[in-house]
Amino acid sequence: MNSIDTYNFQGKRALVRVDFNVPLDKETMAVADDKRIRAALPTIQHILNAGGSVILLSHFGRPKEGPEEKFSLKHILTTVEKNIGKPVRFSPDCIGEDALNQSKNLKSGEVLLVENVRFYSEETAGDIGFAEKLSKLGDCYVNDAFGAAHRAHASTTQIAQFFPNDKMVGFLMKSELESARKVLNHAERPFTAIVGGAKVSDKVLIVENLLNIADHIIIGGGMSYTFYKAQGGHIGNSLCEDERLETCREILTKAQEKGVQIHLPIDSTIADRFAADAETKVAPSNQVPDGWMGLDIGTEAIAQFRGVLLKSKTILWNGPMGVFEMKAFENGTKSIAVAVAEATKNGAFSLIGGGDSAAAVEKFGMSDQVSYVSTGGGALLEYFEGKVLPGVQAIED
Ligand code: AMP
Repeated sequence: MNSIDTYNFQGKRALVRVDFNVPLDKETMAVADDKRIRAALPTIQHILNAGGSVILLSHFGRPKEGPEEKFSLKHILTTVEKNIGKPVRFSPDCIGEDALNQSKNLKSGEVLLVENVRFYSEETAGDIGFAEKLSKLGDCYVNDAFGAAHRAHASTTQIAQFFPNDKMVGFLMKSELESARKVLNHAERPFTAIVGGAKVSDKVLIVENLLNIADHIIIGGGMSYTFYKAQGGHIGNSLCEDERLETCREILTKAQEKGVQIHLPIDSTIADRFAADAETKVAPSNQVPDGWMGLDIGTEAIAQFRGVLLKSKTILWNGPMGVFEMKAFENGTKSIAVAVAEATKNGAFSLIGGGDSAAAVEKFGMSDQVSYVSTGGGALLEYFEGKVLPGVQAIED
């Protein structure tokens, strides 16, 4: 397998699949957060410094049928240029004559961004013919789009077969995989997984797989109330998936059989309605009065979870402990972020798993106090569900 560190890029056109699916300001259509662009810079700069040229390939939003102005990658062009520090060419199509000619005319050190691959339905269909057309743009293929690695799309997966000896992962993908593998395959013990967020149904597969690898599983957020109800608790108007009660009971039984300790929040901050200015109080999580709902873990639960985390040597965190977007219900998630940071300072390896947990850690300004914050929400989740990521497999095969 090729490594981006040692591959000879001199005079080559590197087709780099990035995840530039960045949020735009709805009014100005300017990039609202360029984190994903910055994350791809080490790969881009390395290739340019090594004498190659770069063709950037990305998806952007979810266009339904063909090109849509609001999903054009031209909106992000100036931000890409600013980050790379040089002019970037643009082709209004990702396949066809213009893209092909522009890619062929690139000189060493030059960069071309081509239009959204999802303007073709063949992209998400994983169409081989479309992948072949895209492949003509480069002499080698670099996949640095970890955020899209769980999708078997043309530009993330099928395309790799057209570069049997010239395909590799980029630096972002490499570090994402290294930290994920460290946790999945080489976790120092005790290994604690924190799973939170709204729904049990979104997290069943990851919890089931974690039962095979973790020592402790902390369950917080909206999903914890279905677990409480499954054990006969009274949860008032808290989030609940009645069709998942049996699943929760099965998970609790399996955990016991496997010797995995499941920790549910002893108490909750409850509210009389789902609103930032709701009336609040603290109650045991299994005794939420009717008309009230649990929107955050409570003070005892924070101490309970903190105790487990400070004894852990490996921590995986996916999903917030409460409605952290509202100030009144952010304390649980914030306190857990502080505990994870403290454990990290004491030598634990902590991986924050994408999506909302990454957003929370960032919101509280703690991203640099944990070991690794993943850029891939869905991809990381699927990885810890035990699934093979097609984008990674296509490079490693
Ligand atoms: P997920 O995408 O499944 O990780 O869920 C994240 C969302 O769950 C966030 O938007 C939180 O506001 C929400 N959430 C967390 N805890 C609760 C709760 N107790 N009740 C309602 N929503 C919650």
